[in-house]
This record gives sequence, structure tokens and C-alpha cells, in this order.
Amino acid sequence: MAERVIPLVDERHGTFATPLAVFNPALQIRPNGLLSDTLGRPLNDLRISVTDRCNFRCSYCMPKEIFDKDYPYLPHNALLSFEEITRVAKAFVAHGVRKIRLTGGEPLLRKNIELLIEQLAMLRTVDGEPLDITLTTNGSLLKRKAKALKAAGLQRVTVSLDGLDDAVFRRMNDVDFPVADVLEGIAAARDAGLGPIKVNMVVKNGTNEHEILPMARHFRGTGVVLRFIEYMDVGATNGWRMDEVLPSADVVRLIGQEMPLVQLDPTVAGETAERWGYAGANGQHDPGKGEIGVISSVTQAFCGDCNRARLSTEGKLYLCLFASQGYDLRSLLRGVPSGQDTDQLLSSAIGHIWRGRGDRYSELRASLPADVGGGGRRVEMSYIGG
Ligand code: SAM
Ligand code: SF4
Ligand code: SF4
Repeated sequence: MAERVIPLVDERHGTFATPLAVFNPALQIRPNGLLSDTLGRPLNDLRISVTDRCNFRCSYCMPKEIFDKDYPYLPHNALLSFEEITRVAKAFVAHGVRKIRLTGGEPLLRKNIELLIEQLAMLRTVDGEPLDITLTTNGSLLKRKAKALKAAGLQRVTVSLDGLDDAVFRRMNDVDFPVADVLEGIAAARDAGLGPIKVNMVVKNGTNEHEILPMARHFRGTGVVLRFIEYMDVGATNGWRMDEVLPSADVVRLIGQEMPLVQLDPTVAGETAERWGYAGANGQHDPGKGEIGVISSVTQAFCGDCNRARLSTEGKLYLCLFASQGYDLRSLLRGVPSGQDTDQLLSSAIGHIWRGRGDRYSELRASLPADVGGGGRRVEMSYIGG
């Protein structure tokens, strides 16, 4: 059989026009749920970006000056359909994926997203278990959609919220969206049973670090797990500077001075957040007070456990959040000559690509040139999915 070529051309982001042969279908990899990469990391977690559009313009993600009315968003026919996404997801699940996170852009902007969730909810892991299906949202449409999402089979949501002060929040989302509406969305998600809810706060030093304590006080004891994310150098448009990163250790210290914290064990391997529980009077974790998480992608790399793959809005597989090139799975879905088994090719392709993975950008960050992630212009987070 002739060697099949999966091209790595990323027309939208430019620089990689060289096709690269990554696998030969004669060397089939049959899925057995035990795939691992060159560093021995399994493939357990798939993040799917369902749209590259968003109704917010957070400056750290989709700055208004770049993402304006002239920005070349993907046309609808470039997006994977729900059937295509489900087909790809099924192939990933056979290789060991247990958790799927829908993201974007703003995933709730994708029309009829509930139908996709229904299809994904029918898949089963290699052990015959239902998948853990979750979604990250800015919360703006959650009040309206929470019940339908739950009914479709979504288990949990993560809501992004960068502060409680209305003026600060409106400035950070840069579309004048009020905090109250996001809080109502969180309440609606809780009422619909989409818990345990996580709230993500990106901390940008000089912009919202004074919101850390009010956010911690607000969510302590509510069952919501608040997670502080170090501002990251994702994409190529947010003008990232190291002096705007507030190390997670400072966040933990700040909160711990007022509300004592004890470190908790990770719940699963490959967990991105370090967990800290609020202590009771006896100095032990008081589950009633809950916990926080810190995600220290800048100051404390966690690539060693990274078991996450990312599927972009148009069906490219990315092996790292900081990658500059993706593997075009859509061309396999849409372009396979008749007579060939597309699902088998897809499965083998995923197997070969993951086996060749050696990405560990965060661990290498300090030694790389400032604008490089794995060798070129990095893709935007709104496209690859957070
Ligand atoms: N629109 C949805 C939202 O905001 O939750 C989902 C997509 S968003 C890209 C996913 C997550 O990435 C959000 O929690 C967001 O705060 C985070 N994020 C985006 N840009 C970031 C950056 N430069 N550093 C750290 N986190 C970032
Ligand atoms: Fe939109 Fe989410 Fe990016 Fe903010 S972080 S601009 S809400 S995709
Ligand atoms: Fe995973 Fe890449 Fe982040 Fe490292 S830098 S943890 S490999 S996504």
C-alpha cells in the first residue's frame, strides 16, 4: 500500500506549508486504550474547540485590536460537523480518552451544542464507562442553557470569571458584560445539577490581583471550586509579559494568611490544578469550607503528566497548548478515497501521532526564544481551545 501522507499545512496560521508524512497505514495501530507518547504519557483527556468565535474580548485571549470585524474567522463549512466531531471523539476514546471538555471560543455560541453533547454522551470508555463530559464557558449564556445542557448529558461546567468588581470585570471582558449575569449563570448551572462547578480566574498582575481575596471569600463554603490560573503566553496576540504573571505561590500565601489552607492530594493523575483545602479550627481540611486550585503553567510546569490532546475547530489535532502546528484529521474524514476504511485510518493516525509526541513547552519555556512554541508562530487559544 502506498504511504499515506497527513499534511501539516496550517493555512490560517501560515508558516507550515511543508507536508510531513507521519504514518504509513500499512503499520496499523489497533486501539487498546493503552497508547502512550515518547515520554510515557497516556492519552486520557480530549479538549474540543467547537467554535473560534466569542462574544467576549478578554485582552489575554482575544484582544479587540486583533479580533475585530476584519478577523478571518473560520467559515461554517470549515468547522467539523457534530457527526464528524463524534466520529473523531470515538476514535480517541478507543485509544484511552475518558474525559472530554468542550471549549472554544465560547462553546455556547455553537448552535444546538446540546445535540453534540447528546451524541458524545452515548460513547463509552474502553472499560465500558460513560465519559466524563464537561464544558468551559464564559457563563454569559449559561442561565438560558443550563437545563438543556444537563438534559443532553453534560455532567459539569467550568465557568470563567476574573473578578467580582463589576468595573474590573467589564474592563477585562472588554465588551462591558456585567458580573451579575455570570453569577446568575453559575446559580442556574448549580440548580440544573451541573456540579461540582469550577470557576476559573486568570490572574493578571496589575489588572485583577486585588480580586483574589474577594473571589476566595465569595466562593468559600459554596461547593464551587475556585481555581486561579497564571496568565499564560498562549497565542501570539496578547502581548504577554512575565511581570504580569502573579506566581500561584503568592496566591496561596495571600489567601492562606486570611483563610488558612492545607495542601490536598491530587484526585487523578495528570490533574492540572494543585489543590488546597480550607482548614478548620483543628488545622485539618474542612470539606464544608471547600477548596481552591492553582494552575501554575508558567512557574511550575506540569508537562510530565500532560495527557491532553486538543482538537481545533476545523479538526486539527494539537499535542500541546503551545504548539504551532496541528495534524489535519479533517482531511482524513473528508478526503479518504472510497474503498478505504476511514475510521481505521483515523484511529491509526491518532495512534502514530500520539506515539511520536514529545511536547513539553512549559518545561522548556525559559530556554526558548520569546515568540516560539515548538518551532513557529503559536496558534490562538480561542482556535485550539483552552
Ligand atoms: N470562552 C470560554 C471561557 O472563557 O471559559 C472557553 C474558552 S477559554 C479560551 C478557556 C479558558 O482559557 C478560560 O478559563 C480562560 O480564562 C483561559 N485563558 C484564556 N487565555 C488565557 C491566558 N492567556 N492565560 C491563562 N488562561 C487563559
Ligand atoms: Fe472568549 Fe473565553 Fe477567550 Fe475570554 S477567555 S475571549 S471568554 S474565549
Ligand atoms: Fe501539556 Fe504543553 Fe501545557 Fe506542557 S506546555 S502541560 S505539554 S499543554
